Amino acid sequence: MRKEVIIIGNGIAGITLAVLLQRKGISFSLLHRKGEKPPFALGETLPPSAMPFLQKLQLLNTFEENAYRKTYGYHSMWGSSRVTDINFYHHNPFKNGLKINKYQTLEYMRDLIRDDMVSYTKGFEIIHEAHGNTVVLAKNDGVKMVQGQILVDATGRNRAVLQKLKVDSEIHDELVAVSCHVPKIKHPKLTHEVYVESFEQGWGIVSALNETENICTMYTNKGHEILSKLKDISQCKSALSETIYLKDFIAQVNQAKFKGGNANSSVAKRISGSNWLALGDAAMSFDPLSSHGITNAIYTAARATETIEKKLSEADPDVFAEYGEAMQTIYQQYLISKNNLYRQETRWKDSEFWKQFFLVKDWY
Ligand SMILES: Cc1cc2nc3c(=O)[nH]c(=O)nc-3n(C[C@H](O)[C@H](O)[C@H](O)COP(=O)(O)OP(=O)(O)OC[C@H]3O[C@@H](n4cnc5c(N)ncnc54)[C@H](O)[C@@H]3O)c2cc1C
Repeated sequence: MRKEVIIIGNGIAGITLAVLLQRKGISFSLLHRKGEKPPFALGETLPPSAMPFLQKLQLLNTFEENAYRKTYGYHSMWGSSRVTDINFYHHNPFKNGLKINKYQTLEYMRDLIRDDMVSYTKGFEIIHEAHGNTVVLAKNDGVKMVQGQILVDATGRNRAVLQKLKVDSEIHDELVAVSCHVPKIKHPKLTHEVYVESFEQGWGIVSALNETENICTMYTNKGHEILSKLKDISQCKSALSETIYLKDFIAQVNQAKFKGGNANSSVAKRISGSNWLALGDAAMSFDPLSSHGITNAIYTAARATETIEKKLSEADPDVFAEYGEAMQTIYQQYLISKNNLYRQETRWKDSEFWKQFFLVKDWY
């Protein structure tokens, strides 16, 4: 099978790239692991600033129609015990963000490109990667050979292609997330259905997924002593007992299934090579506090589409290097703003979790 592009990874970055390449008539195969379970619903939020970009890409309807709901603002208690009300009413041109249903959105988009998806059960292997010719083996009981000019890593934080290409990552913190779905309660003191609160050992966010469920996610550092407590509902209640409103969302919950995972900031040491590139979390993964992971996945997919188109049509030798440099610049700017955000919380600046943001000087 010979294609112009081979994409590995079946998330928002890989699928968006596939849809955009299809529109341009650029041939591709998207390789993915067979029988992947629907991911745990994180209820990611897209901020209003992402809406014009989705509109420009003609993806806004897809995201809106498959979203859980529109969001019109959020509350946060960060830096003091006063609740801040962030209202999207003043945003232009869109006065709302979206609480996306990633699984449903992806299924809708996958239907557009299903004919070009290749599944495998026993891994993949890059057997040749040079001079504009990449050969990837998708391993099942037999082997399917896919040949292409350009290889794309869209495998998220796994960076499965980059690992095979021996490209390392720079890791900037140790943030981990613990999430659970809990019955929805409407907090009497809060109008918006998204609420963020910091606490001595980390921070947490609760938001409504739908009419019956809230998703509750707590963040701390890998190895922090609070982490094991956050994974058990009764211990979680006592660990969060000092919080102001966060504790109220789990007060009546007696059973919950927790899902943990990495949520740290990291970047691939190289984001592109002569005929490969990485996008989404595989290129750079953002702290969920930024609410920019999904926007990043879509943005990098759009930039990658332009880059691939130029490479194929003009045989421009520098275009992949420019893509990598642009992404590294974005990541450096992101690190500065992320750190500034954390530094707004000074109440526990000597604590194990918060002190890291006050020790680092070299981002200024
Ligand atoms: C707790 C939490 C909350 C978040 N909240 C928000 C938020 O509110 N707003 C926001 O914008 N972002 C948020 N994010 C970030 C957002 O979810 C990610 O940035 C985004 O989903 C990344 O998309 P992706 O396609 O790059 O990677 P992924 O979604 O990770 O997709 C990668 C795909 O590659 C597949 N894959 C992995 N390894 C292999 C392999 N070896 N072979 C083949 N396929 C493979 C995976 O199965 C998956 O399908 C949050 C993240 C976390 C952890």
